[in-house]
Amino acid sequence: MATDVSNKFDVIVVGAGLAGLSAAYTCARAGLETIVIERGTKPGTKNVMGGVLYTQPTARVFPEFWKDAPVERPVLEQGAWILTKDSVIKLSYRSQRFAQEPPNAFTVLRVKLDKYFADQAEEAGALIICETLVEEVLTEGERVIGVRCGRPEGELYAPIVILAEGVNSELTRQLGMQTDLKPTDAASVVKEIIRLDREVIEERFNLSGPDDGLTIEMYGDATAGLLGTGFLYTNQDSLSLGVGCLLSQLVDCPHTPYSMLQRLKQHPMIAPLIEGGESGEYMSHLIPEGGYNRMPQLFGHGVLVVGDAAMLVNGVHREGSNHALLSGLLAAQTAVEAHEKGDFSGRVLSHYRARLLEETPTLHDLRKYRNASTYMERHPAVLTTYPELASDAIYEMLKVDDVPKRQKQWEIVRMALRARSLTGMAWDAIDGARSML
Ligand SMILES: Cc1cc2nc3c(=O)[nH]c(=O)nc-3n(C[C@H](O)[C@H](O)[C@H](O)COP(=O)(O)OP(=O)(O)OC[C@H]3O[C@@H](n4cnc5c(N)ncnc54)[C@H](O)[C@@H]3O)c2cc1C
Repeated sequence: MATDVSNKFDVIVVGAGLAGLSAAYTCARAGLETIVIERGTKPGTKNVMGGVLYTQPTARVFPEFWKDAPVERPVLEQGAWILTKDSVIKLSYRSQRFAQEPPNAFTVLRVKLDKYFADQAEEAGALIICETLVEEVLTEGERVIGVRCGRPEGELYAPIVILAEGVNSELTRQLGMQTDLKPTDAASVVKEIIRLDREVIEERFNLSGPDDGLTIEMYGDATAGLLGTGFLYTNQDSLSLGVGCLLSQLVDCPHTPYSMLQRLKQHPMIAPLIEGGESGEYMSHLIPEGGYNRMPQLFGHGVLVVGDAAMLVNGVHREGSNHALLSGLLAAQTAVEAHEKGDFSGRVLSHYRARLLEETPTLHDLRKYRNASTYMERHPAVLTTYPELASDAIYEMLKVDDVPKRQKQWEIVRMALRARSLTGMAWDAIDGARSML
């Protein structure tokens, strides 16, 4: 480490992503000597998000951030598109209530956003050291006492270490707080930024101006029927287009995330939306999908785990940033409490989990959807057979020809039964209700 940096702190945060920066900002504002260690060249350079940032949870950490943070567009419309090879069924919701100050959510680009949050943390007094990998968590008996970075004299000490290392939670595993990541625990996602003139975006997506934006989640053929989703979000002068699926689905499958993205870009319903766009950045990342059933131990003696490292992602509702920011906030508040009491044991640090349960929807929501991804694995028809069936049924009913409508209805019923038995459909529905409701 640099010689002018002391090696003793009140709190060490590993990772300058959303969870780490939220924790660092909150600790520093409370007067704790806080250091953040980030392996990337700058905060945000290693981080990927679709990305939709939710206002209310973010403002719990950074009040009124939207007034000067580099957000892209408020999200006034949210769509779900079910793609088949040549068609799309669109569900869309638009509300003026989303336009009221402050809007419910914004599209964001992480490189800009993380830099802004890092600046806030530094202004509050946190020290952020980049281009430094934390290689090991230092322990004394059962107690975490610091970290060792991959630099000469890289040992740092603090009574509390907050692990905000993201989805590849190597240090959390090193401590035995998490087991190895399984192929069903994460989705591999690729994202491309496609630059387009702002006027073209507004005209193409029917947006009223720079304070209007939309998100589209895509299913079915968007992922070639694999368990995953695609997305398209409007930024000021670019689109964020991405697609991904569970790692377990990529085994023995002809697709890679990259080939899935190329495929999506050529889809007849997507190609016109990105036409004339210039390819900007291209990035790839994992999203933790293990949910409640695969959450690590969240606290130990002298250690707290937050954000993606703690598997705090609700894939059904595309929520990860909010849980990262809130878990960082509550871990920091717990660190402050521990310093006030001079007690860094697991007993006091367990208040972090209690706060997460009582003060946020995070654990409630993760618990509710704990069987969602295994449900989708058990019922692949939901992403393959049903979209095709729905599209064919709508096509038949809208096509005007010589066939009477009743005859078309019966043909649709026969078509459905050929594709999936009645008991199969009933099982998909009952198990779906059990897993999601
Ligand atoms: C493609 C994609 C789309 C997404 N879309 C959305 C969305 O639209 N809305 C939403 O709410 N969520 C979304 N998410 C989820 C969201 O991005 C994450 O939940 C959130 O970023 C988690 O923040 P984090 O701080 O826990 O982890 P990260 O942001 O991953 O930060 C971890 C940091 O730790 C650093 N690090 C790791 N190990 C070490 C080490 N040993 N030493 C030093 N530094 C280390 C990394 O470099 C990184 O900066 C998306 C995720 C992906 C991948």
